Amino acid sequence: MGAYILYFILIMIVPMYFQHKVKTTYNKYSKVRSTSGKTGAQVAEEILAANNITDVQVLEGEGFLSDHYDPSKKVVVLSPANYRQPSVAATAIAAHEVGHAIQHATGYHFLNVRSSLFPLANLGTTLSYLLIMIGAVLTGISQQGGGIGAMAIWAGVILMSFSVLFSIVTLPVEFDASKRAMRQIEKLNIVNKEEYKHAKRVLGAAAMTYVAATAVAVAEFIRFFMMARNND
Ligand SMILES: [Zn+2]
Repeated sequence: MGAYILYFILIMIVPMYFQHKVKTTYNKYSKVRSTSGKTGAQVAEEILAANNITDVQVLEGEGFLSDHYDPSKKVVVLSPANYRQPSVAATAIAAHEVGHAIQHATGYHFLNVRSSLFPLANLGTTLSYLLIMIGAVLTGISQQGGGIGAMAIWAGVILMSFSVLFSIVTLPVEFDASKRAMRQIEKLNIVNKEEYKHAKRVLGAAAMTYVAATAVAVAEFIRFFMMARNND
């Protein structure tokens, strides 16, 4: 019982800690004006142009840290602060999102795998817990166990495996985008030595949130897999 409670505390606290870390790191470096004086939007445009990518648009999005690259629409969406402000954090994040656009343009393998997993992973996220819950209730009601309840649990676990796989494949995609971002802002002289270190810190903190999310996804998958097996 104690181990169980500890487990739930861990899977809640660990991601929360890294979310907090990314916010504080971001807040710190979003207040540091970049010596280039370029806004996130300008940095994004510059890196796209330097890589001869002409079919990707840079747009202003809504919401705090809502920055992303959408491969289906070929748009780099930057949150308002990153789009408009010339900060070290905006530089780092804009370069990271363009990193995804470069991955897309160059046919980076893991990005393709990730995109093809997306629909099933999405289904997994919305349905797996529901199926597992229904399954658990059904096996609880029927005295002999097994049957439809066990099948529902297994269906949930299989669906969940797609979201776990998606989460795992996201890691190389994210790390690679940051690596590309750092290479670009260094090569194009967008940052000085000090800013390079700070930009790396911002992207490193963001990467840890993905690592934490994946760790939780894998742990949860193992937990439900064991549950399904014990029900057989
Ligand atoms: Zn990313």
